[in-house]
Amino acid sequence: MMMLTRKMIEIRSLLQTIGQSESLSLPSIVVVGSQSSGKSSVLEAIVGHEFLPKGSNMVTRRPIELTLVNTPKAHVEYGEFPSLGLGKITDFSQIQKTLTDLNLAVPEEQCVSDDPIQLRIYSPNVPDLSLIDLPGYIQVEAFDQPTELKTKIQELCDKYIQPPNVILAISAADVDLANSTALRASRRVDPRGERTIGVVTKMDLVDPIRGAQILTDRNYPLRLGYVGVVCKVPRDTKSLFSRGSANITSAITKNESAYFNAHPETFGPNSEVMTGTPSLRKKLMHVLEATMSASLATTSEAIHQELAEATYEFKVQYNERPLSAESYLAESLDAFKHAFKGFSDTFGRKEVREIVKQELDQQVLNLLAQRYWNRPVESLRPIDQLSEGLAESLESLPKADPENPLWNLKLDASTSTLTKLGIGRLATTITAQALQDSVRNLVQTSTFSAHPFAVQAISAASEDILRDLSYDTSDELEICIKPYKYRVEVSDQEWKRGRANITTALQSELKDCDAANRAIEDILGGKRKAKDVVAFIDRVRSGSAVLEGDGVGGAGGFSAALLQKGREALFLRDRADILRMRLAAIKSRQCGTPANKLYCPEVFLDAVADKLTSTADLFLDAELLSKFYYQFPRKLEREFRSLDEQTVEKFAREDPKIRRHLDVVRRKELLEVVLKEMEGLRMLEARERKNVARG
Ligand code: GDP
Repeated sequence: MMMLTRKMIEIRSLLQTIGQSESLSLPSIVVVGSQSSGKSSVLEAIVGHEFLPKGSNMVTRRPIELTLVNTPKAHVEYGEFPSLGLGKITDFSQIQKTLTDLNLAVPEEQCVSDDPIQLRIYSPNVPDLSLIDLPGYIQVEAFDQPTELKTKIQELCDKYIQPPNVILAISAADVDLANSTALRASRRVDPRGERTIGVVTKMDLVDPIRGAQILTDRNYPLRLGYVGVVCKVPRDTKSLFSRGSANITSAITKNESAYFNAHPETFGPNSEVMTGTPSLRKKLMHVLEATMSASLATTSEAIHQELAEATYEFKVQYNERPLSAESYLAESLDAFKHAFKGFSDTFGRKEVREIVKQELDQQVLNLLAQRYWNRPVESLRPIDQLSEGLAESLESLPKADPENPLWNLKLDASTSTLTKLGIGRLATTITAQALQDSVRNLVQTSTFSAHPFAVQAISAASEDILRDLSYDTSDELEICIKPYKYRVEVSDQEWKRGRANITTALQSELKDCDAANRAIEDILGGKRKAKDVVAFIDRVRSGSAVLEGDGVGGAGGFSAALLQKGREALFLRDRADILRMRLAAIKSRQCGTPANKLYCPEVFLDAVADKLTSTADLFLDAELLSKFYYQFPRKLEREFRSLDEQTVEKFAREDPKIRRHLDVVRRKELLEVVLKEMEGLRMLEARERKNVARG
């Protein structure tokens, strides 16, 4: 017979995982009572262990959904908190501690929470039961308790004592039943007393005759009746058993039956009152089973309904596309790897060459600025006349003297700075950075973008590989370019290419310079105003005007801010002048051949940079790119495939769209399972009923 309850409790737990819907749950026994009515003592007598939180400071703040599972063949008794994943706990004082912590985690201002704690207890000594322990009713708030506590507890209990749940109303014998908050609450929701069991505790504290009267109360008649109990743990037992694992059932029952047996005339077998914890257990089992059986039909109907809705949603919203967290991860990974393959086809030696050359061009421009352009070439006219007299200046371009060691030294030093720049590290780093950035972009356009966990994992994976590869690559590349550190020969062809390239680079630099200059002119209030400011600064520079004081407060009728901008404009104008002059020089016949490299350091250094780039791109393509393209997808595959189920689930659920889809699929599957079990159960129940009828 009890098989049924067991199965129904299992189904009840399954339904709980599907979600909170009132029509979708099987009944449970809800335990209510005032504080100190003996509620915990009754539950502990049923379980056989002290495991509930104790203390004066309102220790039960959350409902405890207690599932008792009878394990006839087992030797050990243990508890489990399914949602905490703490495993089997055999020490009941540990369960008590966990429950206390979970309850005290509800802040005092919040008073109580309706988020239930789930606890399962497995033991050969417990019946199959599903009970819900609620915070005890209070009469008035203590001075240190929030004023709305009483109402909040009441509201929480009211939520749970609704049909089809069975109410276990606990009242103490030494308090008048008319004052029992539990019975009053039950009467509000169960006025005909059809689903309430009255438990009268502390029977030992009143006169036996009075006790028996309470149990046959006519003011609050209950169809399921009253049971009188003495659930106190005898004092000697408490000290005998150290807290933790010893079972206290027999000590309690012994003490209890000693009391009832001492008054056979009132509590004996012929009396009409029901007493004792064992009788209470039996009653609970029968009532729960009957109540569960009675609600089987309505619950299955509700499940049918839910299943129909889930199936419809699955069809309409998701086109019946099956989905699991694992399949989602696998698909996402495949798509990402595919996109990565596409990227690797478009990013090769040519692309590496472009980014490395661009970087070296910049280095060359900086070098030139440092070594050649910072000091006006000796024979040039004053810089402020350059714009107007560019042609003239060119005429007077110094004829570099090959015999003069200064000119040779200058070019050698510049070339050496370039080749000893640490090209190995520089080129490797910028290429690795470009790869890393591309991976990041790929992630952002993939399904992984909605998953912070994956974004992080992928980025870390590529970073790891690139870091490892970079060490060796940069050292080896440095070795490859070593010969250039001693001698660089530039062919006519290379010279020609260098000349064309540096022309473009200088032109683009000039364009930037002009644009910046125009922006400053706008700030200064137009071309004319800018010219005035710059002319004044020019005059100061050549000594024909003076800056009063330090110029901080302004001078020449211009404010300090204007003067500052003017200086910037002047700098840009000078820079543009030099660039124009250099461009003209490069264009000139003199720069047409490598033989004149001393006159044209720009062309020569560019040609050197180009040679360095060619070595670098070849090497990086073979050593960094190919290896990365091979290792990265494999590493991702390895890492993602080795994730545990929980992580995969967490990953998939990060995306709200996927979460909804997964929920529907899961809900549908679970409902199908539950429905099948319910159907089996109803058949079982029908057969049992027939057997009972046959007698
Ligand atoms: P709760 O606040 O309703 O959970 O009440 P407890 O179970 O903690 O019991 C309150 C007090 O009453 C404790 O000191 C218990 O030892 C005591 N108590 C509980 N049941 C009995 C009983 O049947 N007889 C006697 N004499 N004391 C009891």
